[in-house]
Amino acid sequence: MPKLKKNEDAIFVGSEKFIPLLTKEQIQKRVKELGKQISKDYKGKLPIIIGILNGSFIFMSDLVKNININCEIDFFKLSSYGDSKISSGDVKLIKELNADINDRHIIIVEDIVDTGLSIDFIEKLIKSYNPASISVASLLVKPDSLKYNVKINYIGFEIPDKFVIGYGLDYAQKYRNLNTIYVLSE
Ligand code: 5GP
Repeated sequence: MPKLKKNEDAIFVGSEKFIPLLTKEQIQKRVKELGKQISKDYKGKLPIIIGILNGSFIFMSDLVKNININCEIDFFKLSSYGDSKISSGDVKLIKELNADINDRHIIIVEDIVDTGLSIDFIEKLIKSYNPASISVASLLVKPDSLKYNVKINYIGFEIPDKFVIGYGLDYAQKYRNLNTIYVLSE
């Protein structure tokens, strides 16, 4: 086995071992492709890109840097998993939008779609504001965990049903600042 590079080494959170799943290079390459696709699909439109805080902030930032048409941005904030690795199955809105999205083209940006509960909740809320269109971009999707019938238009990577951290994704609010995405190793 070749020795892993420094930023790809396994990391430990207490006794739990996390190993690299997606490198910085793989993520950046894919985000660039998604930005290019969105720019093409929304040419001639002025979309509002809505990030779901906190997890989406790094993906959202890199994504908009790779979008070469005019766009506006705004954020929703939802309650998180707390310090746990398992969703409480309960979503609460903590921060509302500032923008008026009536008749606007909306792109929702998520870090990860697990059961689909958060996206389902946000989509219903956005629909109630009568936008012109809604699409969803998620860096990660866990297809085996999906419980809600949600359509993800722009998917970065499909990943196994395992807990991941890094690149915006936290474990008890930490590790969001890692460039690599790590997965809990069994
Ligand atoms: P869903 O509502 O689709 O079940 O879960 C979506 C939210 O749960 C994500 O925005 C994220 O905050 C959190 N989440 C789901 N899976 C993971 C994971 O593997 N790692 C981390 N850190 N958060 C996750």
